[in-house]
Amino acid sequence: MTTSRIPGFYKMDVKERRQLLDEQLDLTTEKKNTLYSNEALDLETADKMIENVIGTFQLPLGLGLNFLINDKEYKIPMAVEEPSIIASASYIAKIVRDAGGFKTEATDRVMIGQIQVVGCEDFNLAKKTILEHKIELIRLANEAYPSLQKRGGGAEDLDVRLINETESVYSQMLVIHLYVNTCDAMGANIINTMVESLAPNVEVLTKGKVYLRILSNYADRSLAKATCEIPTKLLATEGFSGEEVRDGVIHAYEFAASDPYRAVTHNKGIMNGIDPVIIATGNDWRAVESGAHAYASRNGQYGSMTTWSKNEAGDLVGELELPMSLGIVGGASRVHPMAKLVYDILDVKSASELAQVVVTVGLAQNLGALKALVTDGIQKGHMGLHSRSVAMAAGATGEMVDMVSKQMVSENQIRVGRATELIKEYSK
Ligand code: NDP
Repeated sequence: MTTSRIPGFYKMDVKERRQLLDEQLDLTTEKKNTLYSNEALDLETADKMIENVIGTFQLPLGLGLNFLINDKEYKIPMAVEEPSIIASASYIAKIVRDAGGFKTEATDRVMIGQIQVVGCEDFNLAKKTILEHKIELIRLANEAYPSLQKRGGGAEDLDVRLINETESVYSQMLVIHLYVNTCDAMGANIINTMVESLAPNVEVLTKGKVYLRILSNYADRSLAKATCEIPTKLLATEGFSGEEVRDGVIHAYEFAASDPYRAVTHNKGIMNGIDPVIIATGNDWRAVESGAHAYASRNGQYGSMTTWSKNEAGDLVGELELPMSLGIVGGASRVHPMAKLVYDILDVKSASELAQVVVTVGLAQNLGALKALVTDGIQKGHMGLHSRSVAMAAGATGEMVDMVSKQMVSENQIRVGRATELIKEYSK
């Protein structure tokens, strides 16, 4: 296990960073080529992944550093287009590392498949009949996907819900939930295969008609949780005491917990950390996004995904728990060459471990944003890093990017218009 604490990594050039990683990981030639190539995803592979391919779309891949999670070191690959996300996550990870690191846990990995049945003459009788045949239906589901049971997973349980019993005929339905331990896969295709295979038997048993047979992305039986406890002395910054920062973060959390207008932005900041890891690992970020936002509404009002409070010692205590429908096999995770390399860097052994890493980055990202917001404001740190994108948007290339960006920061005028003027000036 090599350390994730690499002082000065941000000051190295890309070549030096790649070399350092290559030495640390002792990469195979194939993986080395992927890392060193600027077109990791070849057109032939891309053309087999989706339809109507005309090219590939690249994103920068950076490393979230300093992460210590359950006493294990993690260098966390993040694929993202927005500046300052990785710097902020790494900064908070360093603070939490000095406080002993993040602690995480996860529930069993049980995903849910849904079968919608309509048009039953007697919905209550249909429900009773399905429950009487529960063991048989679970057996049939496992027969449709036997490899999962061999891995220690498979369909484990089944439930029936009646929805809109007293409403119009279109809205009355019986919904079967099939609970499946998908092991290290996200499980969408696995579950869809299972629920589709059950449909004919379900129609016979319920005397109704089956329409939808599909995975639910509300993976509330596949939760991962990250926590941290930070002594206030580690939170102090120039101009702000640790207690002020702690109290500011708790007030900011309470704002998000009570107001959906704030909660959406607060949670977007959390997904700033989560999505880049989901993308880099070849997972389905739409699945994780939709599950996360639904979980943030589980008490009837959309609220904060994280909680922030203080303990008896006065330390800042943060927690993030989310459903995590992801895998380390399946989907693009073992198809996209860069994703395959990402697993070498990340060194996670199971989908559960990956889920715990992902929520940790979300928690760190949230604290990074809140700490900036309750002290200097978000723009000071962000705009400095954003200035390079602004310079490039105005047409700067090569050395000009840094020259224009530095000048705009020193003038506190980070605008495309100003960048254009500076490019003209420097070009003379
Ligand atoms: P796959 O269809 O690729 O299935 C994963 C495969 O990995 C299994 O079939 C299994 O094959 C193999 N495998 C190898 N080792 C393991 C292990 N340890 N644990 C479990 N499986 C293992 O992927 P998923 O079913 O996970 O589906 C994910 C994809 O589905 C994503 O691309 C997602 O975008 C997409 N999708 C998402 C939907 C949604 O979110 N609503 C809907 C439909 C699709 P074997 O057992 O044969 O060895």
